[in-house]
Amino acid sequence: MGSSLGLYHFLQQQKHSVTVITPNAYPSFLFWLPGNKKSLNFSTQPTQAKQAIAEAEVLFLLDFSSLKRIGDLGALVEQSSALKIMIDHHPQPDAIADYLLHDIKASSTCELVFDFIQLLGSKKKLNKATATCLYAGIMTDTGSFRFPATSAKTHRVVAALIDSGADNAGIHSAIYDEHTESRIKLLGYCLSEKLKVFPEYNTAFISLSTEDLQLFNYKRGDTEGVVNYALSIAKIRFAVFFVERDGVIKVSFRSKGSFDVNNFARSHFEGGGHANASGGASHLSLDETVLKFIQLLPAYKVALNS
Ligand code: 5GP
Repeated sequence: MGSSLGLYHFLQQQKHSVTVITPNAYPSFLFWLPGNKKSLNFSTQPTQAKQAIAEAEVLFLLDFSSLKRIGDLGALVEQSSALKIMIDHHPQPDAIADYLLHDIKASSTCELVFDFIQLLGSKKKLNKATATCLYAGIMTDTGSFRFPATSAKTHRVVAALIDSGADNAGIHSAIYDEHTESRIKLLGYCLSEKLKVFPEYNTAFISLSTEDLQLFNYKRGDTEGVVNYALSIAKIRFAVFFVERDGVIKVSFRSKGSFDVNNFARSHFEGGGHANASGGASHLSLDETVLKFIQLLPAYKVALNS
């Protein structure tokens, strides 16, 4: 949302007619982003989204590298004759765009959108709304500037965004200090009741069933970041979060150091992502998925201990 809305404000300023389309719902802690109300959710507004795609001369594909990642929207993008520009930082991009601004070393797609604006010679035109959205995206993707992909350049970009009007403390607060009480209690439950640690594999995981979510009045986004608590335990190099949603088990993988969770997700959980942060899915039951995961660990014992 940060990269899409950031680019949206920039392109609008350049007098283009722009529509942001998201494949499905996203967490309410992002609803305050400027321009949020103008975006279309393909899963609930398919007619308007289809019309916008049919009329588009240019499609920007932001923060994903494979059409599989955007569900049913993917077929519409594929069939569109519009010029396609992909801006992304995920590894192994599919050949779906006419132009690619791609760097797996970039902290975030927002950092690349900043580069894109700069490459157009428009840095001076960075307005407050663009700066706010890009700042929000860089801050969340870098775990508040602590993940290894946070470079000196990331900090220079962020400084330019603050200079252009991004309220850094306000943005942080809007995303991280506006949680519901039930979300915080769900986090407490995850940590006290659901965390499992396997010291011999330097691995920890948390799993949540639909029933667990119902106990805490779950809303989309409430489990965002939970996996990082498992990774924050000393010596843990591999952390996993399993959640049962809409009949599918969604899995988040995180690692510290050289253990490649992109490969792990691709090999075993129909997924992908980055070397230290990836995701996937399982169509087994929650218990079967967790068992499958536990049974995979011995094969990775050396890698997880090196
Ligand atoms: P998260 O665990 O926060 O949902 O995702 C972490 C990273 O993995 C993000 O970069 C996200 O794009 C990627 N990712 C999450 N789920 C999937 C998936 O099912 N397939 C692929 N290819 N990437 C995923």
